[in-house]
Amino acid sequence: MIFPIDTVIPILEREVSSYDVPVVDLIATQTNDPFKVLVATILSARTKDEVTAAAARRLFARASTAAELATLTVADVEQLIYPVGFFRTKAKHLGELPGALQRFGGVVPDDIDSLVQLPGVGRKTANLVVAVAFHKPAICVDTHVHRIMNIWGYVQTTTPLQTEMVLRQKLPRQYWIRINGLLVAFGQGTCKPQRPHCDRCVIAAYCPRLGVTPRKKQQGGTVRQGRDERKLISWNVNGLRAVAKNGFLDVLHELDADILALQEIKAHPDQLDDQLRNVSGYQSFWHSAKKKGYAGTAVFSKIPPLRVLYGMEQPQFDDEGRVLTLEYPDFYLINTYSPNAQPELKRLAFKQEFNRTLLAYMDRLRSEKTVVLCGDLNVAHKEIDLANPKANVKNPGFSEQERAWMDELIAAGYVDTFRQFNQEAGQYTWWSYRFNARAKNIGWRIDYFIVDGSSRDRVLEAAIHGEITGSDHCPVSLLFR
Ligand code: SF4
Repeated sequence: MIFPIDTVIPILEREVSSYDVPVVDLIATQTNDPFKVLVATILSARTKDEVTAAAARRLFARASTAAELATLTVADVEQLIYPVGFFRTKAKHLGELPGALQRFGGVVPDDIDSLVQLPGVGRKTANLVVAVAFHKPAICVDTHVHRIMNIWGYVQTTTPLQTEMVLRQKLPRQYWIRINGLLVAFGQGTCKPQRPHCDRCVIAAYCPRLGVTPRKKQQGGTVRQGRDERKLISWNVNGLRAVAKNGFLDVLHELDADILALQEIKAHPDQLDDQLRNVSGYQSFWHSAKKKGYAGTAVFSKIPPLRVLYGMEQPQFDDEGRVLTLEYPDFYLINTYSPNAQPELKRLAFKQEFNRTLLAYMDRLRSEKTVVLCGDLNVAHKEIDLANPKANVKNPGFSEQERAWMDELIAAGYVDTFRQFNQEAGQYTWWSYRFNARAKNIGWRIDYFIVDGSSRDRVLEAAIHGEITGSDHCPVSLLFR
């Protein structure tokens, strides 16, 4: 079916006219000032609109021009824009902005090639500024635009950049400037990233809903929402001290997880700043490897656990800090960093022994209460779970033997929660640092949330957060009741 874009867009225009206007469009309408639009766009990345709007208000009260911004220190800017996501990095970029604008005569340039030379300005920001501030044809592809265009089947792409390129070819030009504001508003209000409101969607009759999981309905037809929902996040940070320099604390606050499980922390608590060890609102638990700078797991929890178990009483694995378990009243959370089988599968036997021990451990805990296993299992289960399966059949992470253990896990009644909701290819959690693999989405899905089968109905959603950078892995999440 060809998606009827010319029918759908006017319907959406009417629909979103009563929604909140995305903050950047609002600032553009209110100020008609490219400098303010640019600054608001920089502030808005990975930040809720209301937080961006308040931060922009505070900042513009002190600095409404590039010249005024140049008089503020980075510390001043940090204070004014907090708590927008990545406020330290954004403050640094804003501190550099007045100097960088000098190359363009002190004014905001109106073309993409020039804009992307400014600090903190990527292609998405540049497109938005060109479209919204200068009313020139440009297609900004926010995650909402990328996601919804794929749900409609109007594009079949895996990255926002690919979506932009396809839209440049096929989207009628009269929609270019508006499409971002329109789909951001619609994506925030109706077609939400998780559990979109298809039940009340004005374009439901036209939408093929590709890859969409319907909302789970409770009795009476409403989605269950309550205090018993918990948001669990798992992230292989590939070195906590390194990721801390890339805005880890901002991400932690932004994700606002009830429980955050980390793998490959590569640190002992005494090597960490107090800021990292004692995060307000969380208790932290550490299972570091004996060897410094290697492996290790940690959990930050808002919910006080009943008990914490360090390892599986197997010194060869426990010395590497591979497993950290928190017992809560109604479930066990097992945070795992599975060994890598290593090139030429040199460490396969060690990994297989670890896997056997882990499964037996899970089975033992499962006899008491729900088991949630999360972490980097260092294996892509099926061909759909990596970009180049044929080239990797004998490689660590996709060897027959490692995949066989995943089969065994599933046969034992455990559930790969992400695949309950999403059957699409191109959904990855790890990308090599080499060959520009992340930008090209040449990745692997090796980070999981697994639950025992009898607890399957407690899972409300499972997701991958590929937009969060800082490590070669991205976080994965589970909404669980
Ligand atoms: S029908 Fe559902 S998936 Fe399709 S656009 Fe509407 S809310 Fe989104």
